[in-house]
Amino acid sequence: MKNSRHRDATKALHAGEGVDPVTGATATPIVASATFVPPEDAKIFSAYEYDPDKGYSYIRWGSPTVRALEEKLAALEDAEDCVVFASGMAAATGLFLQKLKAGDHMVSANVCYPGVAEFAHDTLAKFGVEVSYVDASDLAEVRRAVGNKTRLVFVDTPANPILRLADIAEIAAIAHRAGAELAVDSTFATPAATKPLALGADYVIHSLTKFLNGHGDVLGGALAGAKAKLKPVRGEALVHLGANLGPFEAWLVLRGLQTFPARMHFHQENARHLAQFLEHHPKVERVFYPGLESHPQHALAKKQMKNFGGMVSFRLKGGEGAAKKMLQRLGIITNAVSLGKTKSLIYFISTAELQKHSFRMDENHLARYREWAGEGVIRFSVGLEDREDLREDLAQALDAV
Ligand SMILES: *Cc1c(COP(=O)(O)O)cnc(C)c1O
Repeated sequence: MKNSRHRDATKALHAGEGVDPVTGATATPIVASATFVPPEDAKIFSAYEYDPDKGYSYIRWGSPTVRALEEKLAALEDAEDCVVFASGMAAATGLFLQKLKAGDHMVSANVCYPGVAEFAHDTLAKFGVEVSYVDASDLAEVRRAVGNKTRLVFVDTPANPILRLADIAEIAAIAHRAGAELAVDSTFATPAATKPLALGADYVIHSLTKFLNGHGDVLGGALAGAKAKLKPVRGEALVHLGANLGPFEAWLVLRGLQTFPARMHFHQENARHLAQFLEHHPKVERVFYPGLESHPQHALAKKQMKNFGGMVSFRLKGGEGAAKKMLQRLGIITNAVSLGKTKSLIYFISTAELQKHSFRMDENHLARYREWAGEGVIRFSVGLEDREDLREDLAQALDAV
């Protein structure tokens, strides 16, 4: 079923999985074994020789339940292969550490997941990799930043937390003209919205912790792309650094993925409804949702997103004080970090805090960020509750500010 010709809802159920040939089990078993008797001709000892399709040896190289998840995710991204990791951070940092060396240059979106931004600012700098930070919604700026030492361009779209988009096809062309590769963090978009590889990207990064697992009960990450390009990443990031996902976590994500296309449809319908409600509310200053005509890049969203997703960011006229008051008043919407689970989550993301520790933007970039976010945005991960209950919860909390 690998890379099957089927459509996403079918792949989510069947790709990478089948009836177990030994037991006849129709649900994929959790194979917990740490060691396997390898096929006689398998070259399994060095990370550089290992091929996951030629049999298993030791769990850090690969194992059956984990491989089933890799095959399903590869199918959902229309990728030749996929490597899964202990976290989304491990997928991003595993890629960066394998692809970049001292003297190389990376171009990174200045707005992305804070952990990735801090890794680029501090850890990559420590290893002698130079990083230029760009507003990835500005193609002229991306073009200017890419040079002959650039090995990798990294963008996050829609970018956390303001939902600003990057044009994947255009940025892939810019990167390739310079001999560089493009990696896209597609955690917010998910494969239900966007297939970055089909648009020209070389790598897709996911936090499985979010919509893909979808239930808020697993930490995991994934990297999809061409098999030959992923092979050295598997060797370094898994076999050498040991950032592996365990079989039980893989099994939970496989289970979560069965309903992924259905969930994304429902997340989108709820998010669209609530984004429209917020946009017309007198206490709301601004709403960012790629599916709204008022989104500054709605045309690009229509071009590169088949599903506008479950994330909505907004600002209140009363600023941070009003936002904090509102969040305290919510009932079924939980005031906590993270996103992409069945139940709704909401959190205030302060511009000053992000700037100080994670984004460290120059004055011009910070001014542009503030045009969207002001002193901060309320980031709302819209869950699968009844949308009228969610609307009523927002309405009563807004009444209180
Ligand atoms: C959560 C997240 C990550 C990090 O993933 P973990 O699984 O928490 O390590 C990376 N990128 C984005 C966009 C995220 O939302």
